[in-house]
Amino acid sequence: MADKQVDVAILGSGTAGLNATSRVGPSGRSFLLINGGEPGTTCARVGCMPSKALIQVAEDYHRRTHMGRYGVDGHQALSIDLPEAMEHVQDLRDNFVDRVLSNSTDNMGDKFIEAYARFVDPHTLELDNGERVIAERIVIATGSRPIVPEAWRAFGERVLTTDDFFEQEDLPGSVAVIGLGVIGLELGQSLSRLGIQVTGFDAANTIGGASDPEVAKMAREIMARDFPIHLGETVEIGEAGEKLRVSAGETSVEVDKVLCAIGRTPNVEGLALENSGLELDARGIPLFDRNTMQCGDSHIFIAGDVNGERPILHEAGDEGKIAGYNASAEQVMAFRRKLPLAINFCDPNICLVGTRHEELDLAATAIGEVKLAPVGRAMIMGQNRGIIRLYADKASGRLQGAEMITVRGENLAHLLNWAITQGLSVGELIRMPFYHPVIEEALQAALNNLYAQVEAKNDGPIKELHTL
Ligand SMILES: Cc1cc2nc3c(=O)[nH]c(=O)nc-3n(C[C@H](O)[C@H](O)[C@H](O)COP(=O)(O)OP(=O)(O)OC[C@H]3O[C@@H](n4cnc5c(N)ncnc54)[C@H](O)[C@@H]3O)c2cc1C
Repeated sequence: MADKQVDVAILGSGTAGLNATSRVGPSGRSFLLINGGEPGTTCARVGCMPSKALIQVAEDYHRRTHMGRYGVDGHQALSIDLPEAMEHVQDLRDNFVDRVLSNSTDNMGDKFIEAYARFVDPHTLELDNGERVIAERIVIATGSRPIVPEAWRAFGERVLTTDDFFEQEDLPGSVAVIGLGVIGLELGQSLSRLGIQVTGFDAANTIGGASDPEVAKMAREIMARDFPIHLGETVEIGEAGEKLRVSAGETSVEVDKVLCAIGRTPNVEGLALENSGLELDARGIPLFDRNTMQCGDSHIFIAGDVNGERPILHEAGDEGKIAGYNASAEQVMAFRRKLPLAINFCDPNICLVGTRHEELDLAATAIGEVKLAPVGRAMIMGQNRGIIRLYADKASGRLQGAEMITVRGENLAHLLNWAITQGLSVGELIRMPFYHPVIEEALQAALNNLYAQVEAKNDGPIKELHTL
């Protein structure tokens, strides 16, 4: 079979690879998009979208537990048909996957090849369908996959990951969720709210990725209302007849299934990167520049989860666009990256914006705080548990970051991210209108608290209302 020669080969048709293709295509360069495994993107197939569909069902069903407080009769009699709930999630997922495919690879003809690729030398790729591709430039966008310890594979289908979870036709009676980062917490809470007996474990001492001790403490307290959480001990799984025994320190539970959510690992092994000529880090990931996505000064670019840096969707999209642009440009250009934004869609949302607490120079930082307990709108919604912590440079009053666990955190986190991106100071932000009664009033209270602590008030010559 004759080798195929192209200007650009893109490996992986996930969000990063498709965004890279969207930049290479119009450049006039010849290209091939090569994807091993199921096309349709991790986001639509097994990630963002089915998980949010399940969260929505669980939240709607959970809402019944508030109804007795204001006289809605019959709420105790509500029940949920779990196979139907899963079918709904799968229908939505299929719809999202179809939309991705019909807007991308379905229309690419022979420019799209379904095969796994590996490097033979820095410009030559061998595909597992027997073809060889010689490319002047290459974009690696092969994504990541769930980590499952080798010993746990022996338990077969009783240990689920997000790769197979959304395929389930029914849900088990009891589940141990191991790993309480974003994915474990979102799914663990949803399963619990759907009536599954959930026990959560994590070897670390925090959950949901919060690095601010106050937010982490509050997150643990709030989440433990949904299901028991055991932290800080190594977790082991053993046989218990039909069931599995999950143990950590003094705790031991028997469960039908385990949801293994201990993290994801970049898909680098299958690429034979030792033949690519690239310098690799200790994890086997090529060294790269986050503003150009270029690996060293080579003709190879890397984008999305595979580079292990910012494994979230909008970053994978941005990185794909940067890599695709540079892989088809005469000259490599550096692009400004976005301010970090991370949202955990558990209820209440746990959100991280900009500089994280663990990255702050605490001596130079003012921290403003509000607890959600007395916030009027949150009380009305029956969701007034949480805390918002804002960080600003003490001297200049510039807002730097935030960590929070709060209802509608997904919206507040965006507002804060946009404000910090615009370089706004606390004094400037506090002059914005805050309608009454909205959740943003919680933000206003945290900003007021912060304003009192920063040195630069950014007050103009006209006396402002907030300084009265
Ligand atoms: C349960 C879950 C929930 C999530 N929720 C959110 C969320 O709410 N918000 C958010 O921002 N992010 C979320 N994410 C993360 C987000 O989905 C990912 O960051 C994003 O999908 C990564 O895109 P990608 O293009 O890097 O990888 P992918 O979409 O995984 O694409 C990589 C492709 O490369 C293929 N491939 C692998 N090896 C090879 C090879 N050797 N040759 C050719 N092809 C290969 C793979 O099969 C795959 O098709 C979630 C993830 C999960 C798992």
